[in-house]
Amino acid sequence: MKIINPATEEVIREIEQDNKASIDAKLKALRAGQKVWAKKSVRTRLKAIEAFGKLVIENKDELAQILTQETGKPITQSRNEISGSLNRISHLSKNAEKWLQPEEFGMEGDTLELLYHEPLGVIANISAWNFPYNVGYNVFLYALVAGNSVLYKPSEYATLTGLKFKELLHRAGVPENVFDIAIGSGEVGQTLLESDLDGYFFTGSHKTGLHIAKNVAHKMVPVQLELGGKDPLYIMDDVGDVKKWAINAAEGAFYNAGQSCCAVERIYVHAKIYDEFVKYFVEEVKNYQIGNPEKADTFIGPVTREAQLEVILDQIEDAKKKGAEVILGGKGMDKPGYYMEPTVVTQTTHEMKIMMEESFGPIIGIQAVGSDEEAIRLMLDTPYGLTASVFSEDEQRAKTVLDQMNVGTCYWNCCDRVSPNVPWSGRKNSGMGHTLSYMGIRAFTQPKAYHLRG
Ligand code: NAD
Repeated sequence: MKIINPATEEVIREIEQDNKASIDAKLKALRAGQKVWAKKSVRTRLKAIEAFGKLVIENKDELAQILTQETGKPITQSRNEISGSLNRISHLSKNAEKWLQPEEFGMEGDTLELLYHEPLGVIANISAWNFPYNVGYNVFLYALVAGNSVLYKPSEYATLTGLKFKELLHRAGVPENVFDIAIGSGEVGQTLLESDLDGYFFTGSHKTGLHIAKNVAHKMVPVQLELGGKDPLYIMDDVGDVKKWAINAAEGAFYNAGQSCCAVERIYVHAKIYDEFVKYFVEEVKNYQIGNPEKADTFIGPVTREAQLEVILDQIEDAKKKGAEVILGGKGMDKPGYYMEPTVVTQTTHEMKIMMEESFGPIIGIQAVGSDEEAIRLMLDTPYGLTASVFSEDEQRAKTVLDQMNVGTCYWNCCDRVSPNVPWSGRKNSGMGHTLSYMGIRAFTQPKAYHLRG
């Protein structure tokens, strides 16, 4: 498998993919390792995870460099992701023992009732490339602390980062037969679906998620899917400082070149402030530094996957054909690397792909609305259900809109944000199950109830 730098199109490294025999061998070892790991105390398991966090920080520069080279993520954003994701570790350190300890419900008549939270066993973590630290940690750290062993399949676009996770976890004290990685593309993922695993935890596209759910349904093991979104942002007419909120909205749409599952993917602006908002929004996007992701001041690098350029350009063509106006960008960039001009499209409608299908790139559609009711109708008009945001000075008015959203996460005066304190989950085509919070650790356990009469 060739690892390609999306900023230069150069091959960084060639790596041998796993195959059925190597996966079987890894799973055999993981099964033996899990039995021993599960018997360790939660505190012992946590210690290894904490040591891993320390090693990540010690090696932050090298890790950021690797992430930037294989995904094209601007180096400052790579560093931010590496530091920011450590909050999962402190969250686990603080809470995991409490959340995993057996619960005693006292006597019911002559019977003592107890609940144990047992690990699932050996789980597959099939992951995405866009935030490999955030979404990887959400699964494999929580799974390990809960007493599982993990076969982690990094995205083929973040393999070198995956190899580093393995090296650092082992150095930190997670046994080699408790965490391993499966190297390769979709076909290696497919091999995992056909292997003997006790749970499938997937982060990626709706298309692959659906395929996984269908293919492992007969196994009757937990399946969790963290999928894509078409996340709406509504800017109300009462925001006051329109410029400030236009800058915020642009960051929500264009951070990591728009390649976040919870990136702002479509914007509705109240007609009263629409022109002013669009003016400031475009002004802000024009100021973004675009180019070499290894430079500290670059805000937009290349998109990671060459194939995504076609999806984005098709959305732009489709919008133009149906009457939208491209007021900024609109083309790929004439230089090596998978670069796309940051693109702003106005006069959009819900007949257009740009307002209905995940873009996952530096492109945004902006549409005027005449009322909160119209905004609500349009925000709800989507097959996805990941996040929804409202910018407004009036909390109650914003809450009235957010309360009607069919999503896992609502934002008032913020967006594109994840916290370990609250669950991260999608509805409809954005997935099922949840990571983070106490729910996110329980996801890697199975309850065992005891009725003890003596
Ligand atoms: P993808 O679906 O193309 O790939 C995800 C993973 O699935 C990769 O590791 C890939 O190798 C593997 N895979 C592909 N075919 C497979 C098969 N047949 N069987 C098993 N595994 C297979 O997605 P991607 O391009 O890596 O990630 C982008 C998508 O992920 C976007 O839609 C984004 O919104 C979503 N995402 C969601 C979240 C979330 O928390 N909800 C977070 C990050 C990304």
